Amino acid sequence: MLPMLERAYNPERKQYNAAFLVSILPPYSVWIVDKDIYVDNMNFVFGLAMQNRAVVSCYRLPSDAMIAKEVVHEVGHIFGLPHCKNKCVMQFSNSLAEAMKKPSKLCEECKRRIRKK
Ligand SMILES: [Zn+2]
Ligand SMILES: [Zn+2]
Repeated sequence: MLPMLERAYNPERKQYNAAFLVSILPPYSVWIVDKDIYVDNMNFVFGLAMQNRAVVSCYRLPSDAMIAKEVVHEVGHIFGLPHCKNKCVMQFSNSLAEAMKKPSKLCEECKRRIRKK
């Protein structure tokens, strides 16, 4: 685990800037942090993927299973999947209720998209 990047801390929000954290990662990696993270115009995010790298925060996630689900979601983004409207781990979620409701697996459509790549 990398040491937390204190430069990414926003003292007004008392949260870490997810885009900043992602920007220091090597390609095709996921960084799991225990701090609360945000992107502009959102109160918080569970994770963020950008340019083949991602960060996931376990701060608001109550179980390992939920963390694993968010990691699968961000890895999906790393492999180029957009958000999905099906019953699918790639559903967008910005609340714990939404995150808990979505399945932990890809739908058939997303699986097909991944296979094509
Ligand atoms: Zn997403
Ligand atoms: Zn899907």
